[in-house]
Amino acid sequence: MKEPEEAYCLGIESTADDFGVGISTFQGEILANISDAYIPEEGGIHPREAARHHAEVADKVLSEALTKANINPKTLRVISFAQGPGLGPCLRTGATVARALASYLDVPLVGVNHSVAHIEIGKLKTCTRDPVALYVSGGNTLVAAFECGRYRIFGETLDIALGNCLDVFAREAGLRHRQGLPLGAALEQLATKGEKLVSLPYTVKGMDLSLSGLLTAAVTLLQKGKHKVEDLCYSLQENAFSMVAEVTERALAHTEKKELLLTGGVAANKRLQTMLKSIAEEHNARFNVVPHEFATDNGAMIAWTGVLSYTHGLVTPVEESFVKLRWRVDKVDVPWLK
Ligand code: AMP
Ligand code: MG
Repeated sequence: MKEPEEAYCLGIESTADDFGVGISTFQGEILANISDAYIPEEGGIHPREAARHHAEVADKVLSEALTKANINPKTLRVISFAQGPGLGPCLRTGATVARALASYLDVPLVGVNHSVAHIEIGKLKTCTRDPVALYVSGGNTLVAAFECGRYRIFGETLDIALGNCLDVFAREAGLRHRQGLPLGAALEQLATKGEKLVSLPYTVKGMDLSLSGLLTAAVTLLQKGKHKVEDLCYSLQENAFSMVAEVTERALAHTEKKELLLTGGVAANKRLQTMLKSIAEEHNARFNVVPHEFATDNGAMIAWTGVLSYTHGLVTPVEESFVKLRWRVDKVDVPWLK
């Protein structure tokens, strides 16, 4: 057992398909990071089914995390949870578990913004201080950087998220989750075999981008059956990734920051990493990718952001711990940054 005088935060993630519990020391050492993903039998995430999954596995994931961290729950100093953005039923399940734990242990509760947490875990794990961050996942696509007390959004999707775009196309192409492999990773494998670049819509509007027209066009071509599926996967990736890369590059040029951070589930994609690395090099910026374990939604990022919040005076009274489905990153004060 670890020494009880060490301070720990336990963080709960439940914004969408993953239920995760992480435990972090106040110095940022991650002692446990356990997740259980809801995989729909068919189609996309059904919020109520995902929430039911989270309620069923909460107990198991919690005790696995505590065992892994090898700490007595009574030594937890604070409980944090992802308060938003995300799917209502999923968020509420995680918040309920967090409230119950905080009340039972009689410790403070801290509601954490899920998008801020993706950026903070990326910074922690890559020793990055003040990056332009590209956060790309199943539910979010945005370029953010710290300015005047908050992460400001420099560009974002106007409709669907990048991961969602890849997942819907992958499902239409008949790809399935195999051996726990995300759909985006299955699509990435097929894309490496693509040879021909098929013409598809490219929609960047100012600093924002739109992916729904690209997805519709790619699915329509797939259904017509005139192109190899590998070529369509390759072309979809090239177009979508170029769009996010263009917006990211302009944010780098505008802010003149010297670090670029790629975070979120889609950060695992090698082709996207290569594109962003070359952009960073052109702007003399250091390129960093969040390690694979912390790319998709996870409890460790909520625990670490809970530590940052709590140690800078932020706590969430139970009566203010309602979930925030559309909680934008630029609405969150981040007093730990100057
Ligand atoms: P998150 O929402 O952060 O949990 O991330 C999940 C998203 O990341 C899903 O849309 C996945 O398909 C996507 N994803 C995971 N691995 C990869 C990959 N190698 N390439 C592209 N997308 C990926
Ligand atoms: Mg997820």
